[in-house]
Amino acid sequence: MNETPTRVYAEIDLDAVRANVRALRERAPGAELMAVVKADAYGHGAIPCARAAQEAGATWLGTATPEEALALRAAGIEGPVMCWLWTPGGPWQAAVEADLDISVSGMWALDEARKAAHAAGRRARIQLKADTGLGRNGCQPADWAELVGAAVAAEAEGTVKITGIWSHFACADEPGHPSIALQLTAFRDMLAYAEKEGARPEVRHIANSPATLTLPESHYDLVRCGLAVYGVSPAPELGTSQELGLRPAMTLKASVALVKAVPPGHGVSYGHHHVTEAETNLALIPAGYADGIPRHASGRGPVLVGGKVRRVAGRVAMDQFVVDLGSDLVRAGDEAVIFGSGEHGEPTAEDWARAADTIAYEIVTRIGVRVPRVYRNG
Ligand SMILES: *Cc1c(COP(=O)(O)O)cnc(C)c1O
Repeated sequence: MNETPTRVYAEIDLDAVRANVRALRERAPGAELMAVVKADAYGHGAIPCARAAQEAGATWLGTATPEEALALRAAGIEGPVMCWLWTPGGPWQAAVEADLDISVSGMWALDEARKAAHAAGRRARIQLKADTGLGRNGCQPADWAELVGAAVAAEAEGTVKITGIWSHFACADEPGHPSIALQLTAFRDMLAYAEKEGARPEVRHIANSPATLTLPESHYDLVRCGLAVYGVSPAPELGTSQELGLRPAMTLKASVALVKAVPPGHGVSYGHHHVTEAETNLALIPAGYADGIPRHASGRGPVLVGGKVRRVAGRVAMDQFVVDLGSDLVRAGDEAVIFGSGEHGEPTAEDWARAADTIAYEIVTRIGVRVPRVYRNG
């Protein structure tokens, strides 16, 4: 896109993505880095962010779904790409043909991988996922011997290659949480068992962004970083982006659509949850929950307009919200910064997360398809 959109747009600074990848590699000097670009790179745009991350030394890319991983290949992106959220009947053969690393959490998935390998006429690259305590995806310790045994046998028959053994933390964003040490111990044990049975993984990995930042003993061969690649702090307890040496890559900007004076006692937006106290100026911001502005932040979400951070007045609607400027004045067409790096006084994604009782992951990821992305430093 050549012209900057006017209504609302997300500016993505690819130099920030590169700088964050470099900073994270310094935090995990003995490990390779996987840039996790699932969910359209947490709303930042999967293809440009994957390229920028690779330029800065990310040797792996990760996605949740195989479709996301195949889209990277379709864009011409090479190198190791792993995807971990599989269902029966998914694009197994296409994944083998595209040389994707396929996560396998159970026997049904191993069977799909073997069948796909037969059909494709080449080995499936599989990574065995251990449930070391998250209780979500992954193979339970009690079922590990069966899965490892079958995978090693499939490797011997020539249908798969066990390229990785991996797991995922439940509470890495709460340093000192007792589950962390328990998961590390379980991972060590399940890994040792698989290696004893003959598995020779290229990569062993368990660390996400918070573990990369706080837990060097979790780094192993590879760290899988998502949110931190985009410069956002994974949890307030870990510090701000700046304290973590990260630069938020996304700035969400809008143009003020209307400014008008209203008398005292005037209700504002659906439900009239804000009523003006005195004669005041209202500014209309043309972005709403269809664009990813959380309705739950009604009355609370911060926005920088006219040199001050102001709050959403009343409800966030589907396409717009209002701020009450008091006696200040701005003009239609003036810039409103909904969130950004915070370096210029604007709110951050973390501030919106607090206002909406959620996490910063959700704030950036939910920015909708109606919001154009404008890339800087591509
Ligand atoms: C999303 C995801 C990651 C990245 O997590 P961040 O906290 O954003 O770094 C890593 N591994 C798995 C399995 C994931 O689903």
